[in-house]
Amino acid sequence: MDLHYQSPWFVEALEKEENLKINELNLNLNCDVCIIGGGYTGLWTAIKIKEKKPQLNIILIEKDLCGSGASGRNGGCMIPQSTKFQGIRDVVGIDDAKKMVLSTEAAVKHIKDFCSANKINAEIRDDGILYGATNTFHQGAFENLIRDLNQHNINSWERLSKEKVQDLTKSKKFIDGYFSPIGGSLQPAVLVRGLKKKAENIGIKIFEKSTVISYNYKKDIHVKTKNGSVSCEKLVFAINAWTPNFLPFLSRSVVLVSSDMIISEPIKYQLQSLGLNNGLVILDSNLFTHYSRTTPDGKIILGKGGNTFSFRNKVIDSFDGPSTIEKLLKKSLLSFYPSLKDAKITTSWNGPSERTKTGFPFFGYHPKNKNISYAFGYSGNGVLTCHVGGEILSGMTLNENNKWTDSNFCKGPLKNFPPEPFRWLGAMIIRNAVRRKENAQEKEINPKWIDKQLAKIAVSVGRVDFEKK
Ligand SMILES: Cc1cc2nc3c(=O)[nH]c(=O)nc-3n(C[C@H](O)[C@H](O)[C@H](O)COP(=O)(O)OP(=O)(O)OC[C@H]3O[C@@H](n4cnc5c(N)ncnc54)[C@H](O)[C@@H]3O)c2cc1C
Repeated sequence: MDLHYQSPWFVEALEKEENLKINELNLNLNCDVCIIGGGYTGLWTAIKIKEKKPQLNIILIEKDLCGSGASGRNGGCMIPQSTKFQGIRDVVGIDDAKKMVLSTEAAVKHIKDFCSANKINAEIRDDGILYGATNTFHQGAFENLIRDLNQHNINSWERLSKEKVQDLTKSKKFIDGYFSPIGGSLQPAVLVRGLKKKAENIGIKIFEKSTVISYNYKKDIHVKTKNGSVSCEKLVFAINAWTPNFLPFLSRSVVLVSSDMIISEPIKYQLQSLGLNNGLVILDSNLFTHYSRTTPDGKIILGKGGNTFSFRNKVIDSFDGPSTIEKLLKKSLLSFYPSLKDAKITTSWNGPSERTKTGFPFFGYHPKNKNISYAFGYSGNGVLTCHVGGEILSGMTLNENNKWTDSNFCKGPLKNFPPEPFRWLGAMIIRNAVRRKENAQEKEINPKWIDKQLAKIAVSVGRVDFEKK
């Protein structure tokens, strides 16, 4: 089959599927709800709508294969929104922020239960998350966060001794850190392909290799692909990085930036001798965080965001190719685990990640038609949050008045970036300043004043600041 450059997760997930059948849309159809986009958001939304209203006729249209976007190529790190609590609270208020933290935490169990009920072997290992400090600037960084989470009885984080951090991470690079048991890792593409299968089993019609080329937002909603069309009562956009193409009024709400990853060959014995044998997600405390975890078949992955920023938020070709910073990622991996110097990196890849100015996603209706809704801006944190996103979009689509539809998350973008070319230029200047600042900190050198000031802008645009206050 014609597969463009893809993550090893996605290739592996497709290999495990028997009778891979692709239905292309080449008819003119009617339905109650049409969903565009076959990633986690579109599929959770479709399933949740069908569960609430089984009588509704739902069609999902995907331009490639379900999961070929971010959902089939992410790091599979299940990280709730608790570390972003303060930033979310400052924008949407305490009640909504608490809801988001608790719901993304609850999503770990929901996804696990869902997979077990539907026999989806997504290799879920909920062994928690560890944020470590690799230099003295990052020591003690979660103290304020923990104080605020405790104030609202929603804290799951605990500070660990240096010895304990090194024991859990098996890396001497960490000198301090925080652990939460709520989170872990999974095989991302098996999850999204499993969602697709479940959706089809409950009667949702899915069309793949069917790019939506236009839609009409007037009273009668009409969606066109090259060879077919769908008329519907309700339309949902769940197209992530591609959203600005169809909803240009959202084009200033995000910056599109790559998230880059590497994976090793199977090195089970080396990981075993290190003692890395579970699904713990390990992150450092940089603004563009390194994140790492092992897989059940004995590989190790390392990822990092914040490399390639696209001009005008276009989904550029390089997002569908190997990482341009593969060597740098390997160097980072070895800085955590020098004993892995002979381990081969078998694949690198990347993909577009949409960062909002607030650092968290938003949901909304088309300004000209309330029967059209969208989700956008998971900001690199979608494995758990898309589950909540599906709940939110299903409520919006069914005109429910619930705790989500009435919340500040459903008011569209709450902050915008400047227009181009300032957005891209600003992003490059800030990215480079963040890099210089973090390089200096790794060497225990006080960063330059200007770099610290510029990095503060990244913090004010929703990047989590794990530096001690
Ligand atoms: C490399 C990488 C690593 C990441 N790592 C993590 C991680 O470890 N943990 C975490 O929580 N999050 C991570 N994320 C983020 C997470 O993957 C996303 O937030 C999440 O998958 C978004 O799901 P989605 O369904 O909204 O979008 P997607 O999965 O991107 O789905 C959108 C779909 O819309 C389809 N589409 C687009 N245009 C059209 C059209 N015109 N017609 C029809 N279909 C169309 C696309 O083909 C795509 O399949 C990572 C992201 C990347 C890129």
